[in-house]
Amino acid sequence: MTKYPQLLILSYSLGPIQVLVMHLGALLPFWTGLSWNALLYGIVLYLVRMLAITGIYHRLIIHKSYQTSAIIKWVGCFIASSSGQMGPSWWKGHHQNHHNNSDQLDDSHSPNLPNTGIKGFIWSQGGWLLVGNSWPDRLPADVEADWGLKLIDRFHFVPLILLGAISYGIGGLEFLGAFFLSTTILFHGVATVNSLSHLWGQQPFDSKDQSRNNWFVALITLGEGWHNLHHAFQWSARHGFSIQDGKIVYLPDPTYWFILLLEKLNLASNVKLPSEAALLEASSIKPEKLLVKT
Ligand SMILES: [Zn+2]
Ligand SMILES: [Zn+2]
Repeated sequence: MTKYPQLLILSYSLGPIQVLVMHLGALLPFWTGLSWNALLYGIVLYLVRMLAITGIYHRLIIHKSYQTSAIIKWVGCFIASSSGQMGPSWWKGHHQNHHNNSDQLDDSHSPNLPNTGIKGFIWSQGGWLLVGNSWPDRLPADVEADWGLKLIDRFHFVPLILLGAISYGIGGLEFLGAFFLSTTILFHGVATVNSLSHLWGQQPFDSKDQSRNNWFVALITLGEGWHNLHHAFQWSARHGFSIQDGKIVYLPDPTYWFILLLEKLNLASNVKLPSEAALLEASSIKPEKLLVKT
């Protein structure tokens, strides 16, 4: 493991503390109650921050499935880090490790190894963050070279605290509780990509790991649950593809729609998609496999 400077270790050590505090704070609504306005506020916070994690952290910063200006990257990462799920360098470091070692022993959060069953599920759903694996082996050079992203990474807790303070300013303890509850559900929503999408669902593509297309995860993560396609074509801006009866099926993918919107507004370019031929070629059920040998 790389030897990190003290300040970075201090910053990254806050990760597990954030997770614990958000879970404790999620109990606040049981005491304050939750009005329709506070509930709506929590839902909006969930959707906006989920989109920042899926559309900016994951598909832009990590996989470079499209290009944008530095401003979009910074603003998107600032919003994403208000989720209490660390900054862009930390995220990319761990996620690259996941793709490089998917469902192998060195995978940061596989539900299949080293544990299986309910233990594997709890590990991938967040346990891995609490047991001394809270910083990646190495940090991505491209993110580290961008001073704006690096600043957000080291001070990842500032947007989170700011959003908590704004929530309190808007509606007191009730809205602070809505913020904590939204943040906790968001944490578990994102984590289902690591857990359920490596356990349950279809494997229309030959990704050589346990990644699966899972409709439930896709529903709560704005399209990220089409995870088998993502492992087969990591650079694709659209994850919503499947194969049925030898034909391509286009699945709903709100994060891809968001990228298309950015493109329409001239805020995104070079949106990458696999060709139909490549998708069919990567299908896990090749036509020849269906032929009966004579
Ligand atoms: Zn995965
Ligand atoms: Zn990925």
